[in-house]
Amino acid sequence: MRIRFWGVRGSVPTPLTPSRLRSKISSILQRVEPSDLESQEARERFLASLPPYLFSSVGGNTSCVEVELRDDLRIVFDAGTGIRELGRALAARKRPVDCRVFFSHFHWDHLQGLPFFAPAFDPSSRIAYHSPVPGFREIVEAQMRAPWFPVTMDVMRAPREWIELSGEPIAVGDATVSHRTMNHPGGCYSYMVERDGKKVIYSTDTELERSDFLRNGENAAYFENAEALIIDAQYTLDEALEKTDWGHSSFSLAADFASAWGIRRLVLFHHEPSYDDRKIETIFKSAEWYVERLASRGLEVILAREGLEIEV
Ligand SMILES: [Zn+2]
Ligand SMILES: [Zn+2]
Repeated sequence: MRIRFWGVRGSVPTPLTPSRLRSKISSILQRVEPSDLESQEARERFLASLPPYLFSSVGGNTSCVEVELRDDLRIVFDAGTGIRELGRALAARKRPVDCRVFFSHFHWDHLQGLPFFAPAFDPSSRIAYHSPVPGFREIVEAQMRAPWFPVTMDVMRAPREWIELSGEPIAVGDATVSHRTMNHPGGCYSYMVERDGKKVIYSTDTELERSDFLRNGENAAYFENAEALIIDAQYTLDEALEKTDWGHSSFSLAADFASAWGIRRLVLFHHEPSYDDRKIETIFKSAEWYVERLASRGLEVILAREGLEIEV
């Protein structure tokens, strides 16, 4: 399975503002020495020496994660604004696509990009929408309706299916997808994709609670020894304590959780929109430091950023 990240911000799209861009450039100029500009090689070396928060960005699009199962079959978790970029990339291939979209919940940051998803307009493609929420078709269709949007979903010419998930896992190609309710205002579902004995879990908008740590058969079957856990790590610990019941977790709680379940890769996701790249990078470094001290059998921490790819 190849996992690609198209939108990693929480709550609201967060474009890089002109003042933040200017401050990145200014910080870079303060670091440069004449010798760094002497040759192409020196310039490349200088760029490589910069911290990622200066020459890059985690991106500003909201939640969208692709799991490619085959060249012509992919699972898409959520339709935040990142799904627009995914759609553009798929349309550029000029081949029909089969996308199985799974909604975690219907807060705007997980739905807002759907009207701009190019493959949904291509009659040679196929899109299937999934959610355990009864009648979710009405919720999704409602956002593409006047006065919120000029056209309805009827203009989307790709054949589409609406699949209301039961409690049972569903097959997608040679993988299976299971779901589980997580703690979030109004409810949120996490999904677990399993193929060839390897598990990948997408658990955005999650305020972890005691019951998630309980060592029972149901939790173990879902979480234990997953290859990768993509999880809401929106807050610092301070902010998480201040914002109890807001429905998001701190990076340290996410690390404790991944460690407790023997998970191999912890992907910090759903970044807080008020945090700039430097602060998010600091959270990542703190999570690495924390995980090292947990001594948790080689748990790797990864920072979700637009364009990141992980092979499982
Ligand atoms: Zn969200
Ligand atoms: Zn939410």
